[in-house]
Amino acid sequence: MNKLKKLSLDERALIVKYLYKMAKIDYKIVEEEKKLINEIKNELDVEIKETDLNWTIEDNNLLKQITKKSERINAEIYELINKVMEADHIEHHNEKREIIKFMSNTLGAKSHIEAKIVPLLILDESLTKMLNETADLCEKKASNWQKKKATKQKKVAASLSWEENGGKRFVTAVNYELSTPGGSRCAEQNAIGMAIANNPKLQFKDVRDIVVYGSGGLSNPLYPCGVCQENLRKLNINNQIKVYTYPNDYDHKNGELPTTVYEMSLKDILSR
Ligand SMILES: [Zn+2]
Repeated sequence: MNKLKKLSLDERALIVKYLYKMAKIDYKIVEEEKKLINEIKNELDVEIKETDLNWTIEDNNLLKQITKKSERINAEIYELINKVMEADHIEHHNEKREIIKFMSNTLGAKSHIEAKIVPLLILDESLTKMLNETADLCEKKASNWQKKKATKQKKVAASLSWEENGGKRFVTAVNYELSTPGGSRCAEQNAIGMAIANNPKLQFKDVRDIVVYGSGGLSNPLYPCGVCQENLRKLNINNQIKVYTYPNDYDHKNGELPTTVYEMSLKDILSR
């Protein structure tokens, strides 16, 4: 909750109010939900009376402004909503619908990322292979793994490398959308799962590079979403993880690698 703690008192109060709204969406607040929200309230240092908890249209606008600030803030709000939603151990369709609303409101809220442009020539062999295989796999993936109705499919592939026995190993994974939001998985998260399967003893500190590629309805450079950032942050214990993305005009269909890519440290992405 580090980013949320830095918001103004009004903004922090609004987030607590929003969590009440989320909890109430199935028409009742259970004790577990109340307890959890109270804990969050204390941690955010917010005083708010039960009578002041009615959600208004102005609140909607204020929340929108908060979500435009940074992906990190959105990731933290999203994490809190999930916790509240899971507090009563029952899955609610209303809550899921509200989460989708929240996520779609935060689309396009990306702030500028400081990326270094690096020539492919200076990258190591493992990264060059990752850049080739990530784009390749993404383009090859069958369309049935994306939402049927989408006119432009959001196809993503991601590679993740780690240090092992003095060298680097990597895996490449894709995203899939079987149901939203709970049943879809990002390529980055799938890559983490694959990496563990390939090296069950994998340590966070050994994770090195992430390559992300998008096609279909997505344009490059493509960055890990808020939830993936939250996942990757936990692995980034020595600020050792770097993220690589492709130039906007890159087209893998001609089979060649880009001459330059974007490089940034995960730490920089997270501190936006
Ligand atoms: Zn993601």
